Amino acid sequence: MEYTAKALVLKVGRFRESDLWVRLLAPGRGVFTAFAFGGCRSRRRFCGCFDPMNQVQVRVKSDPRGRYLHLSEGRLLACHRRLRSDQARLGMAVNCLKFAEAVQQGPEGSEETYRLLCELLAVMDRPEAVPPVLPLYFRTRMAFAHGFGPELTTCLVCGRGVNDMASPHFAVERGRVVCGSCRTGIGRCLPVFPGTLAALGHLAASAPRQWPNLVLPAAVRGQCGEIVEQFIEYHLGLGQDRGGSGRS
Ligand SMILES: [Zn+2]
Repeated sequence: MEYTAKALVLKVGRFRESDLWVRLLAPGRGVFTAFAFGGCRSRRRFCGCFDPMNQVQVRVKSDPRGRYLHLSEGRLLACHRRLRSDQARLGMAVNCLKFAEAVQQGPEGSEETYRLLCELLAVMDRPEAVPPVLPLYFRTRMAFAHGFGPELTTCLVCGRGVNDMASPHFAVERGRVVCGSCRTGIGRCLPVFPGTLAALGHLAASAPRQWPNLVLPAAVRGQCGEIVEQFIEYHLGLGQDRGGSGRS
């Protein structure tokens, strides 16, 4: 097996004297690890392209017995110098990469994950300030991109629209909104402002380039963080320790 793919470098490690292993996310293929033999030395074959967060084009081959993948060529498509030289931006980006790697299972949805991550890294690499809330927006968008998109417009019990609901709550396990009076027996519920529901709905359909201009009131941002973290923990099994927290 042999193919050429665009990919994003998630992690790189060294083994033996001059070889590397590279963890990559490729659209349509998902996350995989491949070896770059001589990767520490061969500028001709790899052009120094294996650093985390680089976008690359790679030639991937499996060994004759299909036991492992290796990279025979690599070409750098984009790197992010400004992002890489700024500790705060770097920390945010690394958290987002970790989260994406943990959430992305198999090839399904990998085009979307790749596109979101590439656009997010491009936004973080611009000269403009990067708001620290971006990882929360990314986590929200990613959770919603993976088939867990909550339905946020009607009560899951009585069907009342959110604008007519008294004391709306977010039912974490169901990923739905529920009236305060309908929530008995629904499991874990968090109170939610209509503004928070609107923000979550907006984020679910948004693109990273829009996020630097998205300013949410602190109370709404706090509720979004609480809901998204509990939702991710319940549905994706990821606590705060995996992929970092989006709270800020
Ligand atoms: Zn209801």
